[in-house]
Amino acid sequence: MKVVTLGTGGAIPTVKRALPATALIREGKMFLFDCGEGTQLQMRRAGIGFGRLATIFISHLHGDHLAGLPGLLMTMSLLSRDKPLQIIGPPGLKRFVKVTKETFRFHSEYELTVQEIEGGRVDQGPGYLVEACPMDHSIFALGYALVEEDRPGEFDLKRALKLGVPEGPLFGQLQRGKSVSLADGRVIQPHLVLGRSRKGRKFVHALDTRPCPAVVGLAEDADLLVHDAMFAQEMAEDARQMGHSTASGAARVAKEAGVRQLLLSHISQRYKDEQVLLQEAQLVFPQTVVARDLMSVQVPLRR
Ligand SMILES: [Zn+2]
Ligand SMILES: [Zn+2]
Repeated sequence: MKVVTLGTGGAIPTVKRALPATALIREGKMFLFDCGEGTQLQMRRAGIGFGRLATIFISHLHGDHLAGLPGLLMTMSLLSRDKPLQIIGPPGLKRFVKVTKETFRFHSEYELTVQEIEGGRVDQGPGYLVEACPMDHSIFALGYALVEEDRPGEFDLKRALKLGVPEGPLFGQLQRGKSVSLADGRVIQPHLVLGRSRKGRKFVHALDTRPCPAVVGLAEDADLLVHDAMFAQEMAEDARQMGHSTASGAARVAKEAGVRQLLLSHISQRYKDEQVLLQEAQLVFPQTVVARDLMSVQVPLRR
């Protein structure tokens, strides 16, 4: 699983920080979380093609999180995309896509579905599911968690051979957690040759939001949390009023949720040097990084 931060600014784009968009690439499939203005160019800069894109999750209907959608959809149409694409987000998203298509008069040859949701399990595929929950922003905004299924434990080849399982397809069945019958009539249960199951990975996207219990719940035990950190402590009151989080607020959420790594994002243009954000957050939660545009973060499998 690889996460690429395409846009890490907030509200107003700068030369250094594009508007919010984060790509997650997993087993050949790409997911996009938010689609700020210029996302398609950032994807090109990051060297990630449009073909693998399966689903776009939109957090909320503030322009800085979805103004990149019209251009991206049109480009995929011009490139004769034929794979289906789904867009998932809050109520109002269908109207936005409909008006976009009508105004720009483009017709998607590819199957384009828009799903309006308010929370719960919103998507699933082989080995993963995506959950959403309302957060605490100035308008209705959704946080998303992509959660992988647990993986079977490591296969003990020596033990399997010792038990008399012949090399071949029976190995695969045991690895997939199925019991197998041997020629001599014995039945071998998978737990005899598999180690403890390995927990799946979890990625959480929480923009824009104040620090809130809903995100702590959503991000519980996550491997990677991308969280709103628009301001430093000196702007705490503005953050609260505008529905955003400070760097230390994001760090408190990460600490309470027990995440492995925190990526601060949606950084205000006022911070030319992000050290202040990093220092404030690391006082609370040391495993913090300030996201930069086009950063690639590997999320390793758990042991
Ligand atoms: Zn925003
Ligand atoms: Zn917003």
